[in-house]
Amino acid sequence: MESCTETRRCDVAIVGGGMVGLSLAAALRLLPLDVVVVEPAPVGSSEAPSFDERTTALSNGSRRILEGLGAWRFVAAETAPIRHIHVSDRGRFAFARLSAEEQGVPALGYTITNRVLGAALAALCEPAPRVELRAPARVAAVHPGLDTVALEVEGDRPGRIEARLVVAADGAKSAVREAFGIEATVWDYGQQAVIANVATDQYHDSVAYERFTADGPIAVLPLPDGRCTIVWTLAPAAASEVLALADGAFLARLQDAFGYRLGRFTRVGHRYAYPLSLTRSDRQVSQRGVIIGNAAQGLHPIAGQGFNLGLRDVATLAEVIADELREHGAAADPGEARVLARYAEWRLADRRNVIAFTDGLVRLFGNPLLPLRAARGAGLLLFDLFTPAKHAFARVSMGLAGRLPRLARGVPLA
Ligand SMILES: Cc1cc2nc3c(=O)[nH]c(=O)nc-3n(C[C@H](O)[C@H](O)[C@H](O)COP(=O)(O)OP(=O)(O)OC[C@H]3O[C@@H](n4cnc5c(N)ncnc54)[C@H](O)[C@@H]3O)c2cc1C
Repeated sequence: MESCTETRRCDVAIVGGGMVGLSLAAALRLLPLDVVVVEPAPVGSSEAPSFDERTTALSNGSRRILEGLGAWRFVAAETAPIRHIHVSDRGRFAFARLSAEEQGVPALGYTITNRVLGAALAALCEPAPRVELRAPARVAAVHPGLDTVALEVEGDRPGRIEARLVVAADGAKSAVREAFGIEATVWDYGQQAVIANVATDQYHDSVAYERFTADGPIAVLPLPDGRCTIVWTLAPAAASEVLALADGAFLARLQDAFGYRLGRFTRVGHRYAYPLSLTRSDRQVSQRGVIIGNAAQGLHPIAGQGFNLGLRDVATLAEVIADELREHGAAADPGEARVLARYAEWRLADRRNVIAFTDGLVRLFGNPLLPLRAARGAGLLLFDLFTPAKHAFARVSMGLAGRLPRLARGVPLA
């Protein structure tokens, strides 16, 4: 067998070039650092599990971060603004509305296809002189040390990477997290998300719908080409059943669950299903190691917060590293314990709040018990009438609540 001869030394090694890992590489390319990204799929391509045909709802905070990274100008034309959100409960006269105008912003958020974002992030990182994209390659072993962490890499160019900081962005089943000895709690929701793009005979008019039904919530989000994308949460047996239906029968089933707010559903594209769970790492940092994105917290997509939260991990980590470089000059060390402690302390509240918010929604709206259904119906109506509650909710879902990193405030990183 060929031996691993090459040793590559760098400041930061990012394991996983998915949505979050590649965003971090795009941020760190703005700093004077040597960065290596290790990813099993061609970087930014739709072969990577992160960058498939799924659509992500981006918050306003995420838009600002992507602007700061220089990615927004590549993708802006392929995003759709969300100007209104309409929340309803099937079988009850209860709904709540949120509008961008009411909140004093041009849009409450934006939708984007993951594939489009992947291509833009790759276009930023590929020409960056100090960012090496090592793909296809995967990290097979991690050896934490006092001054560096060593990674054993398999793939086209097998070898060893020694980094002062290793960032685990390798997804919810993160092997790097485990190698750092960080435990994670996993809660299986016993649900699947069925995803598809659909055409409707009424224009979506930039409205995002969230409809709660006895079988699970359905989100219908606007797409730039006038179609919509659906995220339909169902029990596994029901998900398998709707996946197997012929297009006409699927559309009829969806129509029955969602109703006629968008007129008739006329066409459906490919359907995909994703099992849903909550994964939460016990810690986010270890000696010379940081866990970000889904590796730190994998969320139910009900509130569309997973990537938005991961992108705030990215913006915060990039900022504490930028500050370390500014304050310590030649002696700066991105893997130094003080840098990681600052990161962990800063991320605590946002992470805790978003996990609790998302998990709370799943439990409240995924519950078919009658008293709870009645209470949430009343809650929706009250919420619709109560402006301060709406405003607070909007700040959280727009990614503008709490202590924000510079990039999320529209301030340059360095
Ligand atoms: C149906 C659905 C809808 C969603 N909608 C939204 C939404 O509207 N808004 C939102 O904010 N979020 C949404 N999310 C969440 C969002 O998709 C995730 O938070 C995001 O993809 C996480 O990205 P990540 O890079 O952390 O992890 P991943 O996407 O899992 O990427 C991990 C990467 O690590 C790589 N990797 C794994 N092992 C190794 C190894 N050993 N060596 C090297 N690389 C490795 C993988 O190939 C992969 O590219 C949704 C999720 C789902 C399932």
